[in-house]
Amino acid sequence: MNSPSYIELSQQAYENNLQFLRSYINEGTRISSVVKGNAYGHGIIDFVPMAESLGIDHFSVHSADEAMEVLEARNNSSTDIMIMGYISNEDIEWAIANDISFFVFEFDRLETAAKTAKMIGKKAQVHVELETGMNRTGFDQEELNKLISMLKDYQENLIVAGVCTHYAGAESIANYIRVEEQKKNYKHMVQLMVDNGIEPKMRHSCCSAASIRLPDMHDDMVRIGILQYGFWPSREIFIEFLKGREDKTEPLRRLITWKSTVMSVKNVEMGEFIGYGTTFLAQKDMKIAIVPIGYSHGFSRSLSNTGRVLINGIRTSVIGMVNMNNLAIDVSELEEVQKGDEVTLIGRNGDIEISVSSFSELSDQLNYELLTRLPLKIPRVIKQ
Ligand SMILES: *Cc1c(COP(=O)(O)O)cnc(C)c1O
Repeated sequence: MNSPSYIELSQQAYENNLQFLRSYINEGTRISSVVKGNAYGHGIIDFVPMAESLGIDHFSVHSADEAMEVLEARNNSSTDIMIMGYISNEDIEWAIANDISFFVFEFDRLETAAKTAKMIGKKAQVHVELETGMNRTGFDQEELNKLISMLKDYQENLIVAGVCTHYAGAESIANYIRVEEQKKNYKHMVQLMVDNGIEPKMRHSCCSAASIRLPDMHDDMVRIGILQYGFWPSREIFIEFLKGREDKTEPLRRLITWKSTVMSVKNVEMGEFIGYGTTFLAQKDMKIAIVPIGYSHGFSRSLSNTGRVLINGIRTSVIGMVNMNNLAIDVSELEEVQKGDEVTLIGRNGDIEISVSSFSELSDQLNYELLTRLPLKIPRVIKQ
């Protein structure tokens, strides 16, 4: 391996998670695998074909550039791709031509889609996003009449592939009332559309947290991001989930293991400072190992003197500052440690584990944030 670290993706873990999701989610509800943020750091190029091989046939992304990556990565030409966020008016022609569906949440995009579709003689597949209380994107209730009449005017050029919304903070019970309000608004607005002759092919509103908490809203499709990678959207959702179950074991498994290697080993005498500055003073004679990973590789600088890694079956500490490309770990207790030994930065090594959440709690990052900050250029390898 010519790279200082690599990420291993466990296909078995993914299979396990899909099995759990399929048993939990209502029968007949399709799962869209959300792969924005480079598949939450797992790597679109490697993740997409693996997911396809396990039966996933719908992917959701944030933007057109990500859709292009999925298009390139997919093996099956009938696998669906949906853009939930950004697409420039210029890229709409490309999306229509490639059967990529996209959210519409404002009139300019809707009009551009219809006109472009007419121009190239192929219908655009749009998902009408409704504003139900998140206040991010979506058509407001006051815009519904205009929206409905435009959808009718353009019916030669548009397929209403879906109607959808997104809940604001379904991962926290504290938002219960806001989410209930959103459900009500959503149902009401969808009904208005249907009553006025707009029949969307699919209804979808649930992300991971909502899929767990709102089984009555699974509808035709759920958009599952974080759960499929083996993480709970929040601790609250995990507890809420366990509450209703006899079986209290964790049903999910993490796909990701991030590994590096010892680059050099050295002894340091008591009373010496280690690394830049004076943040770590050796209180005894010590042995340290240098790992060629730093904040430029996604190992946060805030893990200086607090992070943990696994090596040769033990958990040990990061000592001194995390540099741009290196960090030092304490291996005083390990007699046999040597250059080339494997270091686990995230994931399992034998019976012990560095979880992303312990890692992100120490550095005050969300699971989501830490994962998506894992740089693109770290090689990903699938482990069967
Ligand atoms: C990111 C996103 C999702 C998936 O969220 P998870 O919490 O990771 O399941 C679903 N829908 C929309 C609109 C999103 O932006």
